Amino acid sequence: MSTSADQDTIRTAARTQASDAVLAELMTGNARFVSGTAQQHPHQDAARRHELSSVQHPQTVVLSCSDSRVPTEIIFDQGLGDIFTVRTAGEILDTAVMASLDFAVEGLKVPLLFVVGHENCGTIAATKRTLEHNVPLGGAQSIILEQVGLSIRTSLNNGLTTTDDFERTHALRIAAEILARSRVINDAVRTGRLGIAVGRYLVSTGEVELLNSADPK
Ligand SMILES: [Zn+2]
Repeated sequence: MSTSADQDTIRTAARTQASDAVLAELMTGNARFVSGTAQQHPHQDAARRHELSSVQHPQTVVLSCSDSRVPTEIIFDQGLGDIFTVRTAGEILDTAVMASLDFAVEGLKVPLLFVVGHENCGTIAATKRTLEHNVPLGGAQSIILEQVGLSIRTSLNNGLTTTDDFERTHALRIAAEILARSRVINDAVRTGRLGIAVGRYLVSTGEVELLNSADPK
């Protein structure tokens, strides 16, 4: 479990010049997406495909929800080779997710790790229902209850009571949890090779609100 020190690091310190530059690029892409001026299929032509046939140099690893309304490359107006993407329901963590994040940070040397939650997340709603009305979640979904439930309790303990609050707290807590679980990522942050950003995508407007850093634009 992440400590409050990890959560403080996520809120304040986990930024570098390189990660801010990448974040600014993504937020500019998001602004294009919001305004409807997204480039036509950016970085998706044959030339880009050939250029990347044997190498990749993505500048960010994004962990986000699998929700069908939150496709990472579309909401940030990016293309082939731009984002190393990991998506799970409710951006929850397990060994496979941690291995994928470590691979991107150590192997691909991405300067930015971006955790992106979102508005109207079904896993938050389902966990809230379960906690309030004891509606069960079947099969392997107990891991959702465990991780999202902890975020809801953390939020309530801090006097934050709305679903919007739960979604923000969850994304921040997952980012802190990543820092607590991964030696590779912790070392990269400590030595200034990696910055961590946390955001929340608004399905109603298309915007991404940043939760742990000033607007880099
Ligand atoms: Zn979701």
